[in-house]
Amino acid sequence: MKKGKIIVISGPSGSGKTTLYKKLLDDKEIKKRIVKIVSFTTRPRREGERRGRDYVFASPKMFERKKKAGHFLETEKVFGHCYGTPKKKVQDVLDRGKNVLLCIDVKGARTIRDKFPKAVTIFVRTPSLKVLACRLKERGSEDKDVLRMRLKIARKELKEIKKYDHVIINSRLQTAYTRLNRVIKDEIAKEEGN
Ligand code: 5GP
Repeated sequence: MKKGKIIVISGPSGSGKTTLYKKLLDDKEIKKRIVKIVSFTTRPRREGERRGRDYVFASPKMFERKKKAGHFLETEKVFGHCYGTPKKKVQDVLDRGKNVLLCIDVKGARTIRDKFPKAVTIFVRTPSLKVLACRLKERGSEDKDVLRMRLKIARKELKEIKKYDHVIINSRLQTAYTRLNRVIKDEIAKEEGN
């Protein structure tokens, strides 16, 4: 049986990638062919988030134990918390001939690209850093130092954009979503030889 493909959505914090990623699975055609992989994290659960749906919330001790046992395909520390992609889940989906969808940070995307050179990588960005700063402020990152730090990281992340297969500029959410949806459907069709 043909193995599935790994599709990675990445980009700076505040680019809107998670919103777009969540929206993708409302599309029946995409849902049939793609499985979203739920990451592990040590960060506290936010209001509205569900265990096992948004993340598997783990204690730092449990995360470290799993990491040592080789449970993760990649792990990263993002803004002080650990995040990891479960290896077996990804492998099982690929073995079933389905495609895997990951929404992870830029360093994690780099690891996936190194391990799976055929992975499709999609970078979501705002039209400019100024827009990103506004979005981060709206999100409640009022603290000037935190904001400055996030923008500094975003500037670094933007330098990696050339390594990505596709770039989605998230100016208007609906337009960005339509483009992302098309890119993913085209990539799946390529894989299926349509
Ligand atoms: P948040 O805590 O806001 O949900 O996510 C913070 C950042 O961690 C986001 O950029 C998100 O995409 C990233 N992230 C979520 N899960 C993983 C993962 O398994 N691995 C990596 N490397 N990053 C992740």
